[in-house]
Amino acid sequence: MSNLEHGPHDPIPCQAGGDDDTLQVLTARKARIGASMTIRRVLPQRRRRLIGPWCFLDHFGPHTFPADTRQQGMWVEAHPHTGLQTVTWLLEGEAIHRDSLGTHQAIAPGSLNVMTAGRGITHTEETPPHNNGRLHGVQLWVALPTSARHSAPAFEHHDALPRFEEDNATATLFMGEGFGDQAPATVHTPMMGADIAIHGAGRSVLPLERRFEHGFIVVEGEVELQGTRITPGHLAYLAPGRRELDLRAEGAARLMLVGGEPFPETVLMWWNFVSDNAEDLRAAYEDWKAGRRFGPVAGFEGGRLDAPRWVGTPKAPKA
Ligand code: MN
Repeated sequence: MSNLEHGPHDPIPCQAGGDDDTLQVLTARKARIGASMTIRRVLPQRRRRLIGPWCFLDHFGPHTFPADTRQQGMWVEAHPHTGLQTVTWLLEGEAIHRDSLGTHQAIAPGSLNVMTAGRGITHTEETPPHNNGRLHGVQLWVALPTSARHSAPAFEHHDALPRFEEDNATATLFMGEGFGDQAPATVHTPMMGADIAIHGAGRSVLPLERRFEHGFIVVEGEVELQGTRITPGHLAYLAPGRRELDLRAEGAARLMLVGGEPFPETVLMWWNFVSDNAEDLRAAYEDWKAGRRFGPVAGFEGGRLDAPRWVGTPKAPKA
């Protein structure tokens, strides 16, 4: 996915989150991707920039389009990334990922795509020519720490992921550590990401890592936490210090839960680039514009996205 919020805006300074114990419920912003699909941008937002290393969270769909008209599904033309990992997790439909490493990988619900941009990669995402006319999922970005930010780019696909069964819920751990288990994808800081399916009305209690801050969105149904209803379109943020997630539901529901140790480094994000310093972001922008650093994507039938105009030097977050 590409950050399509063009136009005059300050680069977004991101900073590690709060230290209060209260539940913070924030509203996601609506944005657009491609021709017709509405997405909900959960992160970053003014009152919450990061959850652990997670710096970007888009919830797209559920979206219905005429089957086999692929450009009304997912159609994200060639664009670069640096300094982050993209994590793609689908709930419905299919997508094809291609990148400048030569990767050509289809993804469907239950499987995970993780692309580590490191010092630079180009990729595309598209709905396959034959499809079921449905698309629903999330794309998340993980900020890389300085130690991994300039590493070689890499791509991973995983079909076998750890599952945690609770009486009324099944959690699939797609990134990091959680529920006494470890997901297979490479991570660079302590963190977790999971898909939680609540099977029906009742209470579900899931263990949490106490050192982590967490956040979740509801993508189907609704849940109640501490007497507060959480519905689609909202982010529930939980500060570090919790040992469990105690949810109540009146029916089936589906949640995306992310978390991690509060990220200790400065995170600056501009377009599709992440770094701890503005010079890096500017250099990535100049290199993309000039056709340097980022290789071509073979086999993709569409074009290449232009970077938005560079409008200012990213500022470090205020202390
Ligand atoms: Mn992307």
